[in-house]
Amino acid sequence: MPITTLSKSHKANTPTPITISSLPSNSKSTLGTPTFTNNTTMVNRWPTFRAITPLKVTIIGAGVGGLSTAIGLAASGHKVTIYEAVPEIKEVGAGIQIAPNASRILERFGVLEELKKDGVMITRNSMRRWEDDVEIGNVDLMPNVGKKYNAPLMVVHRADLQRILLSRALSLGVRIYTSSSVTAISPDFSVASIQLASGEWISSDLVIAADGVKSFVRAEIARRKGFRDTSLSTGDAAYRVVIDEERMRGDERVAGLIRGDVGSRWMGPGGHIMAYPVRGHKLYNMVLIHPIRPHQLDNESWTSKGSKAEMLKTYAGWNSTVRHLLSYVPDDGDVMEWTLNSHAPLPSWVEGRFVLIGDACHPMLPYVAQGAANAIEDAGVLTVALGLIDGVERVGDALKVYEAVRKERGEAIQASATATQRQLHLVDGKEQEERDRRIRESTEAARRDGGNNGEKRNPDLWADQQWQEFMWGVDIMKDTLERWDDILRR
Ligand SMILES: Cc1cc2nc3c(=O)[nH]c(=O)nc-3n(C[C@H](O)[C@H](O)[C@H](O)COP(=O)(O)OP(=O)(O)OC[C@H]3O[C@@H](n4cnc5c(N)ncnc54)[C@H](O)[C@@H]3O)c2cc1C
Repeated sequence: MPITTLSKSHKANTPTPITISSLPSNSKSTLGTPTFTNNTTMVNRWPTFRAITPLKVTIIGAGVGGLSTAIGLAASGHKVTIYEAVPEIKEVGAGIQIAPNASRILERFGVLEELKKDGVMITRNSMRRWEDDVEIGNVDLMPNVGKKYNAPLMVVHRADLQRILLSRALSLGVRIYTSSSVTAISPDFSVASIQLASGEWISSDLVIAADGVKSFVRAEIARRKGFRDTSLSTGDAAYRVVIDEERMRGDERVAGLIRGDVGSRWMGPGGHIMAYPVRGHKLYNMVLIHPIRPHQLDNESWTSKGSKAEMLKTYAGWNSTVRHLLSYVPDDGDVMEWTLNSHAPLPSWVEGRFVLIGDACHPMLPYVAQGAANAIEDAGVLTVALGLIDGVERVGDALKVYEAVRKERGEAIQASATATQRQLHLVDGKEQEERDRRIRESTEAARRDGGNNGEKRNPDLWADQQWQEFMWGVDIMKDTLERWDDILRR
């Protein structure tokens, strides 16, 4: 059944048949001229961005990637249908970070204001020792990061993000079918057809596979290219818990953590914990990364149930703040456990009329908090690229541009997780002392130089300003437009 109603509705953009003002109808020959001079100009022009050739697009999966892409495409005039396997798109997950590289896209997609109501703008991230909770260093975030990148950084509950995206997609006329598992795709990749579990075949101009970390379309594309698509254990798993503020109320020892705007990162031997408040400080989110146990090796699921008793045992030797926080997890409460696997980069994200996005092509480990943000970047790039082609036969050009703009960048961010994992999980000793010294030095340099740590690189890449510049400073929609000519000439 298609989902057709929601309690809240948004007014869709008025369809005006104009594209970015300087965009000629034959986009290929002249797109080299930069048409967005800065973010503000782009934002102002965005509501009038209309696709030159409206397409019929099928999206597999209504996660963050699928819904964001549907919004960008529907808002620019394409006819979009999503097929989602689960019967109900409901509250699942825990905290997710929306960094500036994603929030500037979400603003153009008309969802940022709504997200701000539930999101928390983190002012500072505090890096702390596992054993005694002593602060090693910190990194300044909002409002300075927002001013620097002209887009905010916030943390939200994944369920809130998904709900807001779903509402916006529906208001733009996207048709979403739940309980609609896609079980096969056309053996001829030049034909954009999918088959549902019911046996029905659906055809369109393009299929966007946003079917997540266990994507079967990725497996099909990899097979077609003769590539062995493997998933390798990182040796880590992550507990995800969300503690209700009411449970901690009155306990001054931890109340400041949920009321405040500071993210906490405790680093210890073999693991680390990232924690921050979400949903307007009503919930406290904790992701606790620890060494995997042998029986978990094959389970790469977001929804596996973990055990509170095992979790408490794992963190028994950690500081009392952490133990105190964990004591508030209800005994029968939701402790989810997520096995962290890494995936080798694919030779290509595109095959004929099929394209992969989000976790289906660049599954991100949580060490750099970029999973949702990179899926949203994919949505931004596809929206611009598919909007610029003057004919269905040029879908391949748009996908070529998408892959050129996104693949190298997405895979670099994906790979950075491994380096970060090593740094965050050092056992106490010389290497750990050196890491902590560098974190202190980098924090000090940033304080001295007005937020710029210059040459003093931070071994925690998430807190490193050069890496932040690379992750957060990019306006990927603007890049797509500016690189269009160049990429298609190659
Ligand atoms: C249940 C769940 C909970 C999560 N919780 C967190 C969290 O707490 N913190 C965090 O940082 N990240 C979480 N994530 C991951 C995060 O949402 C993604 O890393 C990121 O947003 C990229 O999203 P995506 O759209 O590429 O993939 P996903 O969000 O994984 O979405 C993929 C979608 O495709 C659907 N699908 C899969 N196969 C098929 C098929 N054959 N036919 C039709 N539909 C199909 C799935 O049901 C799913 O809805 C979670 C993901 C899921 C699915």
